[in-house]
Amino acid sequence: MSSAPQDVAVVGAGLVGLATAWFLQEAGVTVTVYERRHVAAGASWGNAGWLTPGLTVPLPEPAVLRYGLRALLSPASPVYLPLRADPALWRFLRGFVAHSTHRRWRRGLAAYVPVNQRALEAFDVLAAGGVSVPTRAATPFLAGFRTGREARGMLTELTAIRDAGQDVRFRPVLNWRAQALEPALSDRVRAAIVVEGQRYLDPPEYLRSLGMAVRARHGRIVENVDVTAVRPGATSATVVRSTGQQYRHDAVVLATGAELTRLAGALGVRQPVQAGRGYSFSVPADPLPAGPLYFPGQRVACTPLRGRLRIAGMMEFRRPDDPLDPRRIAAIVEAVRPLLTGVDLEDRADEWVGSRPCTADGLPLIGPTAAPRVFVAGGHGMWGIALGPITGQLLAETVLKGEAPPELAPFDPLR
Ligand SMILES: Cc1cc2nc3c(=O)[nH]c(=O)nc-3n(C[C@H](O)[C@H](O)[C@H](O)COP(=O)(O)OP(=O)(O)OC[C@H]3O[C@@H](n4cnc5c(N)ncnc54)[C@H](O)[C@@H]3O)c2cc1C
Repeated sequence: MSSAPQDVAVVGAGLVGLATAWFLQEAGVTVTVYERRHVAAGASWGNAGWLTPGLTVPLPEPAVLRYGLRALLSPASPVYLPLRADPALWRFLRGFVAHSTHRRWRRGLAAYVPVNQRALEAFDVLAAGGVSVPTRAATPFLAGFRTGREARGMLTELTAIRDAGQDVRFRPVLNWRAQALEPALSDRVRAAIVVEGQRYLDPPEYLRSLGMAVRARHGRIVENVDVTAVRPGATSATVVRSTGQQYRHDAVVLATGAELTRLAGALGVRQPVQAGRGYSFSVPADPLPAGPLYFPGQRVACTPLRGRLRIAGMMEFRRPDDPLDPRRIAAIVEAVRPLLTGVDLEDRADEWVGSRPCTADGLPLIGPTAAPRVFVAGGHGMWGIALGPITGQLLAETVLKGEAPPELAPFDPLR
């Protein structure tokens, strides 16, 4: 690269885009963020807010595949696949199935370890630099199961994660001790696993505060700008919006979440990014759980946020802009009803659907494209909140040096 970019555009104001903008500013770069709707309009709003590097692993895995196939046959399933899938979805699913082997999962796990180890530290850098909404210690982070046997699968997975070099401490809790630890669990929960050292945040508040921090450092966040193309040049790149207006910058970072393929596909990025839609809502809870609760058997995540309990789940392979399907909310409600006490599941607020940006190999796309001044940051699937800041930090380094650090090698967008 000739000279380091001084003026960089980021497309997409989710956590990944805003964190990238912030870390670029940290190095003295002038940033402009172009966002189709508004800050946190995508997946970064209604997610569970877990910062759980101890659980951040690739999605394609034999057990997930078996679970997904079984779940497809059940009407109350936490996984939904349209009967008439389009060619892009079939391509994604073929890749997902091919990657669902133990060997590939272990390889993916090893790729995650170096970034997972630094994930929480990157939040601390943001906090020290003025992002005022705090991250919270998950004390405890609890996974609940109906039987001790059900818990064994997660214990095996956590052991594999630890064996791969990830620092993760956990312990099983049996019978009544689960309720003693978390009174919001019903007596149907007969086993639990405590995972230590994890955190969580309030996604809408955190995104608002990160957006304010970017603006406070004279970054521009330009909302209601739909970017339809990026024209690469040798020492610059031009953002084209739907109105035809064009803006030239020294470099452009694409952080458009589940829409990543649309702009990055023309720049040599062949890995498709598929929307894995999830749903959430919040309910009153008394007692309010002291920390996040995970029900792996039901694939449901619960997080205490602003005095209510946010409940999130589902994996629906549909277009990002399709409307919210109330049947999915009902399926989540029925899945958690037997497992929680003191929640009013009928008094729901903030019903939401959003798209996880999923890749077929379960690894994100972070780094340069085939165009010298265009980069991508996205495709984190289930883990774009936990990994957003470290992604921004490493990508900012890549943009400035014109070369990706070794931690990003497995996430090469041109793989
Ligand atoms: C139910 C659910 C629960 C989840 N729980 C967790 C969790 O606990 N922990 C965790 O780490 N992750 C979680 N995730 C995943 C996480 O939400 C995502 O991985 C993450 O938010 C992705 O961030 P992003 O910035 O890449 O994308 P997004 O937040 O989707 O942001 C992309 C932005 O780009 C904009 N955009 C798109 N196209 C254009 C365009 N052409 N021009 C301009 N702007 C454009 C969009 O409007 C959007 O604002 C969850 C997801 C779901 C659905």
